[in-house]
Amino acid sequence: MELTLRQKEIFRAISSVEPLSQWYDWKWHMRNSIKDIETFEKLFGIRFSNKKREAFQKTVDKFPIAITPYYLSLINTDDFENDPVFMQAFPAPLELDVMDWDMSDPLHEDRDSPVAGVTHRYPDRVLLLVSNICGMYCRHCTRKRRVGDVDSIPGRTEIMAGIEYIRNTPKIRDVLLSGGDPFLLADDYLDWILSELQAIDHVEVIRIGTRTPVVLPYRITGELVNMLKKHHPLWINTQFNHPREITRSSREALVKLADSGIPLGNQTVLLAGVNDCPRIMRSLVHKLVKNRVRPYYLYQCDLSEGLSHFRTPVGKGIEIMESLIGHTSGFCIPTYVIDAPGGGGKIPVMPNYLISWSTNKVVLRNYEGVITTYQEPHSYNPQFCNRNCDTCDLQLELGDADDNRAVGIERLLSDYDQTISLVPSGNERYARRD
Ligand SMILES: *Cc1c(COP(=O)(O)O)cnc(C)c1O
Repeated sequence: MELTLRQKEIFRAISSVEPLSQWYDWKWHMRNSIKDIETFEKLFGIRFSNKKREAFQKTVDKFPIAITPYYLSLINTDDFENDPVFMQAFPAPLELDVMDWDMSDPLHEDRDSPVAGVTHRYPDRVLLLVSNICGMYCRHCTRKRRVGDVDSIPGRTEIMAGIEYIRNTPKIRDVLLSGGDPFLLADDYLDWILSELQAIDHVEVIRIGTRTPVVLPYRITGELVNMLKKHHPLWINTQFNHPREITRSSREALVKLADSGIPLGNQTVLLAGVNDCPRIMRSLVHKLVKNRVRPYYLYQCDLSEGLSHFRTPVGKGIEIMESLIGHTSGFCIPTYVIDAPGGGGKIPVMPNYLISWSTNKVVLRNYEGVITTYQEPHSYNPQFCNRNCDTCDLQLELGDADDNRAVGIERLLSDYDQTISLVPSGNERYARRD
């Protein structure tokens, strides 16, 4: 594969002696990651004014910078200030504007953590942070609080403790490896983590969240995918935020992953000035599925400190969903979610399609604005469910039946539970009753 002119230029500016083929070595990109404003200026061929440089420097002092030469090479030099790649990679002084409602850990990942490195939020799955290293420091990182924090690189003992927690918690059937970027670990180390997890009977599936196909596609080597293949069922989610990030190099990385039988998903973050546009999103999801990547989530930007300039109103996300649903293939459409501040998890939000309802009819509207009705059955004998599956007419395979009690809204809907409302602890009206 040929390098672009820009890539050759950047390579030569970094190293005049090494062979160009080094460009394809992901470790070369990590060694030569751009970590200060001066190097950026030199490689980019610009000089910021002293005032601007000072403002950038102040930002970098709080939130460090790291850009791979590869990702830098995608920036359009003619209009870089509006460039989606530049905006995701280069510090903006606005990051220092902290709003009253910003939090360092809005998702309470640290508080919902039974052991260091594990966030156990949902009943059957956990997040395991296995690396604190990233190919690039995304300016919109939700874990900005930890970026560049070398002291908290999880060591083998810490990861072992996380794995031990998973081993001792039979309800966990799905483990998400994240970080940092798990693919910044050495192959054999990652192989060890995956083997340990796979050896646990109740772990049915492992997922890896990685941005390397976007910012460091050369990390996806033949050796890496050969190792990953041993650990099926393994799912990977990546994070393309703009169609421009899907390049020849990233496509090659995706081919290697998909050809090794790994289902690929994508989690996009909705970012003001980067992708808050229905046309950009439509082009992004189409390019993704062409490359066998299924759009999984579209995230509303979190309330982490330093992200205020990236946030859009929720209405922008709804508008984008409105422009996708019905207009394009169902599997091109991600679920738009708001990750609840305080640790409530991801909450899906959608345009409203259910307009009204009576006892025997629902009124719906479609993506074109056509209003239609659905006639409901005149009689329906609901199966009364007391969770005593032995007496039920439905052919539930008892061998696989899971008789956990219902939680949350599911509990309000169930026949066998007398709960009629869910009340937050600390509710003042209830406190008065005592
Ligand atoms: C996102 C997330 C998950 C996985 O959620 P899915 O909806 O299953 O993809 C699990 N744990 C935590 C803490 C998360 O943030």
